[in-house]
Amino acid sequence: MQSINILWFKRDLRLTDHVPLHRAIESGLPTLLLYIYEPSLVSAPEYDLRHWRFIWESLESMNQELKNYNTQVSIFHDEVLNVFHQLKDQFNITSVYSYEETGIKITHDRDKSVQSFCNAHKIKWQETQTNAVVRGLKNRTGWAKLWEKYINGSMVNPNLRKLKPIELPTMNCGYEIPASWKTPHAKFQKGGTATGLRYMQDFFQNRIHNYSQHISKPLESRRACSRLSPYLAWGNLSLRQVFMAQEDHKQTVKYKRNHHNFSSRLRWHCHFIQKFEMEDAMEFRNLNRGYNTLKRSENSEHFEAWKNGQTGYPLVDACMRCVTETGYMNFRMRAMMVSFLTQNLWQNWKDGATWLAQMFLDFEPGIHYPQFQMQAGVTGINTVRMYNPVKQSQDHDPQGIFIKQWIPELNNVPIQFIHEPWKMTSMEQTLYQFKLGVDYPKPIVPLAETAKIARDKIWAHRDDPIVLKEGKRILAKHTFRNRRN
Ligand SMILES: Cc1cc2nc3c(=O)[nH]c(=O)nc-3n(C[C@H](O)[C@H](O)[C@H](O)COP(=O)(O)OP(=O)(O)OC[C@H]3O[C@@H](n4cnc5c(N)ncnc54)[C@H](O)[C@@H]3O)c2cc1C
Repeated sequence: MQSINILWFKRDLRLTDHVPLHRAIESGLPTLLLYIYEPSLVSAPEYDLRHWRFIWESLESMNQELKNYNTQVSIFHDEVLNVFHQLKDQFNITSVYSYEETGIKITHDRDKSVQSFCNAHKIKWQETQTNAVVRGLKNRTGWAKLWEKYINGSMVNPNLRKLKPIELPTMNCGYEIPASWKTPHAKFQKGGTATGLRYMQDFFQNRIHNYSQHISKPLESRRACSRLSPYLAWGNLSLRQVFMAQEDHKQTVKYKRNHHNFSSRLRWHCHFIQKFEMEDAMEFRNLNRGYNTLKRSENSEHFEAWKNGQTGYPLVDACMRCVTETGYMNFRMRAMMVSFLTQNLWQNWKDGATWLAQMFLDFEPGIHYPQFQMQAGVTGINTVRMYNPVKQSQDHDPQGIFIKQWIPELNNVPIQFIHEPWKMTSMEQTLYQFKLGVDYPKPIVPLAETAKIARDKIWAHRDDPIVLKEGKRILAKHTFRNRRN
């Protein structure tokens, strides 16, 4: 039987700055490049066609480059253990190389069974740290130094010329890859390192000058922000690769504040994922258990209205519809969507987190759950931020251009009412050929009252003894010990 290594790609769909690939090649054994679409993930409610399509495009981009080296990534659609079992029957697998994954429970459990499989068959599974996310930390002491070490380290570019390809025998497992995964969609960012690099170059050369000024605006941020999140989430680019490209551009351009703000966010990327790595139960329950006793409403009509962009609050609805159609939204609007759901509608964060995971093309569990809980006000250590959608709309979409783009029902509504169409009298509605409650819903809850009730409940609960105790635990575990850190 031929001895081989397996390079198992997960959320690291690239061929540059790839430590496991470098190690597999340097081991000298033929290496099978493997990607597995897993039915258990495909059917998970956090995932959607948009993700599988992005992955397909990423794999195609890799395979395009790999043609030069007479090899391809072998793509399966089956559970990982089924694939590994079949490969074991055909080859003597020496090592499996991969990056560590900070994922949801499904992938965490799958990794445990892969580890058992490897142990049982004397296969060495060599996992490498992903970006600056360190496995096994008990608290954040020293993490800042580890981040610096990672980000300032050299890129590790595998020498693909040395890659020894493998003839893969026909294997009797797996399902077809659906045609819809292979069909591009013009409204979504396209996957693949080549496209990710184009976004990155364009951002540093042309778009970064408006970064800080436009970061909060739902329309302008789509151009002024880097839009690198799906390329980082699916690993088309490594974080260090982006950081280093920025260092090169910093030398030549004058937009210091923009560069500073952007590089802080690259650090936040790992900071949040590190949090989830150290406390992944956050996928299911409040980080601060003291909030478990704060009962939420379970109003499925409200939840559906929020999901479908039918709340009667134009900016909330425009954002919800836009993210469904395009997979992208800037940070402030994401925070506002969560604030409206969990504070004004007083719903539990969990269902909303699952829905938006499915909608965000850049779904990254390690950022998504900690951010969602922070915005929902259930950590007990962060300031509870409430976003008034009318004020956000007036501040960040004053002419209602973004709103009208996503809510054509409001096209006839003049600017003075675009943020609050419910303020139109019936005479004005007739004049502008618009009927509230028919063309567009009336607000499903009153804004000021619901915000006040939520604020009072959340703040009162902060003195709960369990919230306070948990707060101390969270601070000790997840925050830096001294200011310099
Ligand atoms: C409720 C909620 C859920 C979120 N879920 C995700 C998610 O699933 N995946 C995801 O990548 N981001 C998530 N974010 C963070 C942030 O909104 C996005 O990273 C950002 O909007 C992506 O756009 P960009 O690439 O143009 O960002 P830029 O502003 O250009 O930032 C560059 C990169 O820095 C990182 N980054 C930026 N902002 C943050 C932040 N606040 N926290 C952590 N990292 C950040 C991202 O990797 C981003 O690509 C979430 C935010 C909220 C409020």
